Amino acid sequence: MADAEPYEPTIPDLRDPIRAALDSVLDVARPHTDGALASYIPELTRADPEALGAALASVRGSVHESGDSETTFTIQSVSKPFVFALALEQSGLAEVIRHVGVEPSGEPFNAISLEPATGRPLNPLINAGAIVMSSLITGDTAAEKFAIIHAGLNAFAARELDLDESVFESEHATGDRNRALAYLTQSAGTLGSTAEVATGAYFRQCSVSVNARDLAIMAATLANGGRNPISGERVIGEDVARWTTSVMTSCGMYDASGDWLVHVGLPAKSGVGGGIVAMQPEEFGIGTFSPRLDARGNSVRGIVMLRTLSERYGLHMLQHRGAPHSPIAQLERDDRVEGGGDTIARLRGEVFFAGAEEVLTRLAPLVGDGGCLVLDFSNVTRVGDAAAALFRGLPDVAGLGPDGRPRVAVLDPEGVLVGDA
Ligand code: GLN
Repeated sequence: MADAEPYEPTIPDLRDPIRAALDSVLDVARPHTDGALASYIPELTRADPEALGAALASVRGSVHESGDSETTFTIQSVSKPFVFALALEQSGLAEVIRHVGVEPSGEPFNAISLEPATGRPLNPLINAGAIVMSSLITGDTAAEKFAIIHAGLNAFAARELDLDESVFESEHATGDRNRALAYLTQSAGTLGSTAEVATGAYFRQCSVSVNARDLAIMAATLANGGRNPISGERVIGEDVARWTTSVMTSCGMYDASGDWLVHVGLPAKSGVGGGIVAMQPEEFGIGTFSPRLDARGNSVRGIVMLRTLSERYGLHMLQHRGAPHSPIAQLERDDRVEGGGDTIARLRGEVFFAGAEEVLTRLAPLVGDGGCLVLDFSNVTRVGDAAAALFRGLPDVAGLGPDGRPRVAVLDPEGVLVGDA
């Protein structure tokens, strides 16, 4: 894609300004009719090549849709990060990474890409690694494993997803390369079941039918730290959500992952059904659908839509956003106290590591000159875990001054230092 034209937003349509933004991005993508439908799974050639849709779900639970956002297609490789997450939730990181690496392979999705020493697939987002992930899910048969995977994908999407039987049959009939990958990992000792059971579960998982709206909600669940913003259900833990999006950041777009990270800068995953999920941590998830693929198997118009959105709205996750607001709203002296005045620091807003560092570095020199340093958290809305621990311990560490009064006192009427921020 050539460098984007400068974008002048028009007055937003107030019925749904975000939908209007998505509509405009669809208009940019529509003329990109290059690429081709995936044909190595014959049933995928039945998709309408012109279909084009996108949806965005916020972590607050609103969904905005544009174009063919309700048209269904098979999830294919977009299932991989979600099944990786389910495997992590079930078995923990240490066990999962005994079976699969977390390194970008820089190779096509169907590559025979195994670590020479261990036989582990390099990452869970290419077929070899994804088949190993499906094999780790509890169950003795493909049907049992798939039942758990299916329930997990439903929880991510906040609805019951169908299985596209004809795509499943088609994958099953033509999936010898995937069977070969499964047998290779089985012989290396990294597969958690027989190759037949693993591929049986994996083919079904790839054949789950979704639309762009489902993908947006699934991605928003990751963006929301693992709690589905539509159903309110906690689907996976925060650590699992972070590990999953880490791998999406480095490996989500196959051998185009580095290029994607530079130009779009959102954790993402594509599939040969034409879907892409992308997410902005703490903010939203996006799903796009357009089935014509580039040579690497990524949706041509999906890439255009996400790159355009990212450039227009400054969505790159590493975008420089300037130093955060200082948490020190006001410093007051109270000289009525005998033997040295007290200092009251009124803090505000959200305080994470950088804010705590500022408070502690600026105010520590005030401790010990006889008065008490009072840290007032009344107007603080949230404190990160590590920052909270630093502040909570401070009165004890500072101890008592020469007048027998505490050197540091913490005022926390709302309990922001106690909760799990
Ligand atoms: N089911 C497909 C396969 O295994 C998934 C590949 C993809 O979406 N990149 O070949």
